[in-house]
Amino acid sequence: MGGSGVRGNVCIIGSGPAGLYCADAVRRLAPQVAVDVLDRLPTPYGLVRGGVAPDHQKTKRVVRQFEPLFTEGGVRFIGNVSVGHDVDVSELRRLYDAVIIAVGAAGDRQLGIPGEDLSGVYGSAAFVGWYNGHPDFAHLEPRVPGPAVAVVGNGNVALDVARILALTPEEAAHTDLARPAHAVLARHAVRDIYLLGRRGPLEAAFTTAELREMGELRQAVPVVDPAILPDHVPDTMPPREARRVKRNLELLRPFAARRAEAETAAVRVHFLFHRAPRAILGDGRGAVSGLLVEHTRLVDGRLSNTGVTSSLSVGTVVTCIGYRAVPFPGLPLDEQRGVIANTDGVVADGLYVCGWARHGPRGVITANRASARDAAEQAIGHITATGGGHGGGAPLEKLLAARGYRAVCFEDWQRIDAEERARGEGDGRPRDKFIHVADMLALLEENRRAAERAERRSGAGGT
Ligand code: NAP
Repeated sequence: MGGSGVRGNVCIIGSGPAGLYCADAVRRLAPQVAVDVLDRLPTPYGLVRGGVAPDHQKTKRVVRQFEPLFTEGGVRFIGNVSVGHDVDVSELRRLYDAVIIAVGAAGDRQLGIPGEDLSGVYGSAAFVGWYNGHPDFAHLEPRVPGPAVAVVGNGNVALDVARILALTPEEAAHTDLARPAHAVLARHAVRDIYLLGRRGPLEAAFTTAELREMGELRQAVPVVDPAILPDHVPDTMPPREARRVKRNLELLRPFAARRAEAETAAVRVHFLFHRAPRAILGDGRGAVSGLLVEHTRLVDGRLSNTGVTSSLSVGTVVTCIGYRAVPFPGLPLDEQRGVIANTDGVVADGLYVCGWARHGPRGVITANRASARDAAEQAIGHITATGGGHGGGAPLEKLLAARGYRAVCFEDWQRIDAEERARGEGDGRPRDKFIHVADMLALLEENRRAAERAERRSGAGGT
């Protein structure tokens, strides 16, 4: 696509991987198009910071690819601005030549079974957000009384949650697990973690690297019933999927051979396949006491109920059954698909969507690249066709200032980042996260005052 001569400005809402891959694509395709990336938090990187597991520090290194966009790539970060509250999408559309939504899918899908409102039931967006120090969930204080927790779902998020619950304090010490989560998990010893799949090992969505980690934990032993494991992968499975499933079976078999070891292990992670949750049971005082599951089977590839039920005695249930986009002020939601309503990424003329907000939650971080590039091309195409000419960032800044909002720039984030790293250093942790926006803003204010004082002193010294 030839956009190299195009001039204009693009506003991207959301600084997670989708938004930043999109910013990168716009700059590569049309270097003269200015890009502002807005985020409602003072911290960039979206799910990399708030979703990727705190012990997956290597995965978080993807931010090194994104940082140069802000430091030398001509992309501006405007954090602490909540679109729909501080400024509307319609206003942004009047200010910018094109607007791209990259807000992800921040809501939890519901099981839709009795007891989901009991204390001790958490969706993965909330639970993962809490242990990752996301400000939205700083006050969650989940009930994790131990000794048993049910984790519903057979995807990578379920593995993440089970693994974090199973870490020893020493293992957790090398992560950026939020401080309150660290304290709660250290206080309440979880001994049995039930990982529930409504279908079988062939249908589990785990990727192999993540499943392998479950066998490498210091105090936790995976427990698998060998009888449930099929001998081979069916020929009908598409080759790529068949390779993943075959490797998963090759991991699950040795897991199944560790049953004796599991008996004396401090923590056991029970892989319970063919169990569909039917009701979350209460203790009569509003808290979880168990989970009723129905045993299932697959008939011609379709999930079928057996009528056989059993119950697990657990004090906490974490549902990891997928995410959906949450309603975004001024934008239509496709309730059925759980995404911002769009046709191939187009929401309206000059308004586009990419990443999980466009196509739902799927794949690793780089899987957002394709739709991010689509949105970049669509935006540049729109600017080319219309000629652009909108004011962009300068009028937005004026408007925000007039409304009294304190936007956070990338240098501000770098100050927060440096402080978090410094706070973590003493304990040998990658960082000790701020979990309240007010504390981040207070740090920036303190920095600003210190800089002013230093300037006054140097001014005084010069006279
Ligand atoms: P996912 O991979 O789609 O898994 C969701 C799981 O929930 C499936 O096992 C699904 O079972 C189950 N489920 C859905 N509705 C259910 C219900 N009503 N009752 C019981 N089970 C139900 O989603 P995810 O784990 O949230 O992950 C989202 C995306 O992020 C995935 O692409 C994942 O790979 C990615 N991710 C990657 C990493 C990593 O690379 N380390 C880490 C985390 C997440 P059915 O299959 O039967 O529907």
